[in-house]
Amino acid sequence: MTLTVRPGILDIAAYVPGEHDLPGSGPIYKMSSNESALGASRLAMDAYAKGAAELHRYPDGGCHALRSALAQEVGGKAEEIICGTGSDDILVLITRAYAGPGDEVLYSRHGFLIYPIAAQSVGATPVTAPEKDLTTDVDALLAAVTPKTKICFVANPNNPTGSYIPASEMKRLRDGLPDNVLLVIDAAYAEYVDKPDYTDGAELVKQHDNVIMSRTFSKIYGLAALRLGWAYGPNSVMDVLNRIRGVFNVAAPAQIAGIAGLADSDHVKRSKAHNDYWLPWFVSEVKRIGLHPYPSVGNFLLVRFPTDPKLNADAAEKFLKSRRILVRKMGAYGLPDCLRITIAEEAAVKACATALNDFVQGAATQ
Ligand SMILES: *Cc1c(COP(=O)(O)O)cnc(C)c1O
Repeated sequence: MTLTVRPGILDIAAYVPGEHDLPGSGPIYKMSSNESALGASRLAMDAYAKGAAELHRYPDGGCHALRSALAQEVGGKAEEIICGTGSDDILVLITRAYAGPGDEVLYSRHGFLIYPIAAQSVGATPVTAPEKDLTTDVDALLAAVTPKTKICFVANPNNPTGSYIPASEMKRLRDGLPDNVLLVIDAAYAEYVDKPDYTDGAELVKQHDNVIMSRTFSKIYGLAALRLGWAYGPNSVMDVLNRIRGVFNVAAPAQIAGIAGLADSDHVKRSKAHNDYWLPWFVSEVKRIGLHPYPSVGNFLLVRFPTDPKLNADAAEKFLKSRRILVRKMGAYGLPDCLRITIAEEAAVKACATALNDFVQGAATQ
């Protein structure tokens, strides 16, 4: 007798996180996981350190204080908030609750890879809709809906493309979906966006019973190590998710650091100001070097490379590594000629621009 794995599990291509280490010594510029350029809020670090005295206690399984603070953020009720071990945890819970064998989980062609992984992990079938200019295409998503569709995931802005759809398009998507399809708006990078036609989707949650918005402390709040995410959704959905989540799915240090980080709006402002300055700076450098950046509203940039083996994305990634700069390869996202580069700290952004310039110049003289 041998163990039998549930059907579909062995078809999953496991998620490969951004690289974080290199052999040898010296500083590493990590631009591979869209982490905060400025690190965590000092207030969050202090709260975390203070929490050490209570490490023997179980956490508040209901995350009451944190959920109240988050409810204020979105103008909702604490009962409409759920917290998780990163937003990944919540995206998986949603999938587990609403999809199973025979069902379809819909997302955009270059959408976040956790969606198909979550779908396959519950035996559901991931279905992709094509994009236009590496941007979510509402008509294509609606055209891909079948009677088997149970969930539609949209990252807005999307990772890895950096593109977004305006609030009017998200509303058109919601209005075009059957009422028995749950629309999941993954707004992991919402804090970085200030386009007048963008919203995180909270208003759609308020108006409808089949919309949920997920957020994270891993990006602008700089708390990726703590694994803390949350979602805002209707009571009916929260009731379902609360039945299947881990009883103590958010560690106490994450809860207290999250509350402190949320309150530190100055830190969030500084992080956004950093991105507002260095993202356009990096875009213009990439263009000057002769590479192709895709428009981004996140804290990262998708850059397309030529197909010439001397100049392609694989060669660039290796070259950057030789300068101790880590970026993200995009083959798993169906974008093998691109690299995704996080707008990290100033020294990293400058080092990366210099390295890309040297890479292209060097290839030209080979
Ligand atoms: C980084 C990211 C998340 C957040 O993941 P966590 O589990 O909260 O760290 C969610 N969605 C997208 C699109 C992301 O890029």
